[in-house]
Amino acid sequence: MIILVLNSGSSSLKYKLFNMPDEELISSGLIENIGDAHKKPVFTYQNLSHGKIRNETACKDHRHAVELVLDALTDTTGGSLINLKEIKAIGHRVVHGKDIFTEPAVISDDSIAKMKKLTELAPLHMPVNIVCIEECYKILPSITQVAHFDTSYYAGMPEFSYLYPVPYDWHKQYSVRRYGFHGISYQYVNETASLLLRRPLSELKLISTHLGNGASITAFSHGLVLDTSMGFTPLEGLMMGTRAGYFDPAVIPYLISKTGYSLEDIIKKLNNESGLTAISGIGRDMRSIIDACKGGNSRARLAFDMFVHTLRKYIGAYFFSLGGADAIIFTGGIGENSPEVREAVFENLLPLGIIIDKKANLSIKGSKTGFINSPLCSTKILVIPTNEELMIARETWKVKSNQ
Ligand code: ADP
Repeated sequence: MIILVLNSGSSSLKYKLFNMPDEELISSGLIENIGDAHKKPVFTYQNLSHGKIRNETACKDHRHAVELVLDALTDTTGGSLINLKEIKAIGHRVVHGKDIFTEPAVISDDSIAKMKKLTELAPLHMPVNIVCIEECYKILPSITQVAHFDTSYYAGMPEFSYLYPVPYDWHKQYSVRRYGFHGISYQYVNETASLLLRRPLSELKLISTHLGNGASITAFSHGLVLDTSMGFTPLEGLMMGTRAGYFDPAVIPYLISKTGYSLEDIIKKLNNESGLTAISGIGRDMRSIIDACKGGNSRARLAFDMFVHTLRKYIGAYFFSLGGADAIIFTGGIGENSPEVREAVFENLLPLGIIIDKKANLSIKGSKTGFINSPLCSTKILVIPTNEELMIARETWKVKSNQ
């Protein structure tokens, strides 16, 4: 069964075409810089056994991006499909499902209308997620389409974790609470960890970290979320590429009075000009930061140390809350590829019995999966490259197969 997966970000559209349930990847691609005033959109894709094609494109918005992807799939010179009707189902990633969408939802006028009401909870992502869904629904109305929410995996999180200690009616009236994100990624890495550990998720205590430009950490107890670092929005929690993470909100009125910034300016700065970018002074890319550390750049070193320190604090808190962990999992661009970050996170943890195998750690990067803990260590440390598109394809296949 051919399944198309679309994963739209604020300025990008990623796709993968799978043959399910064999999980065979038929083609994949990415359009970047959509709607960016300073950079030209670039479309990189690969069909069947053909080589990679990389073109600048005149893609003006996400609606147009969907059309370009569908055209590329049926391109007469090397497209993967003869006709779009070969696609039996489409899976879409949607960032926020609030407490309304606790499982994948079949696309209909009704589910789209419900999603539109959630736009204000993730204003950068929800509008583009919905535009992509609407465009596919318009072009391919008879194909089953399914929305998968990054927040759904948190459905079982306990109230004592998801509530903020703020006036109770903020929660009751305005749904102010912690929702959690990166759920599709966590579902994928946790299910992979369960296979590697040869134990069912219902028996495991896991601490999973997704460290990309956006970064989060989640504690899982016996298959359910115990706690997570991202909150009402993906701004809370760990220090990230450009996001501040946890931060005292009392600074906001103080800064407004001192600087004349508007509230909107400050929220924008906390989202786009904070985190690694702000502290390093050389951008958000962990590779450049590590290189600069090696060259003696003290701001880059400070950014690295702050990133690691924050991560250690959360891992420590979750380790304690869970009463120990069977495994600590690393995924996302930094988690999968940076032995330096992973080694620093586990420095001096001998008293807790958590010891990294330095040689194994150095060897695992660039899409490799493996254990990086010392054999003496009862808490395993795992690196698992995430595959959100495959997770969406699996779940879409389940929905389609049950129709
Ligand atoms: P996104 O959250 O945008 O999906 P990714 O998961 O692709 O991000 O992660 C991107 C980040 O991964 C980059 O900012 C870069 O810092 C980091 N990264 C990628 N490769 C390496 C590497 N070899 N060493 C350290 N960091 C890396």
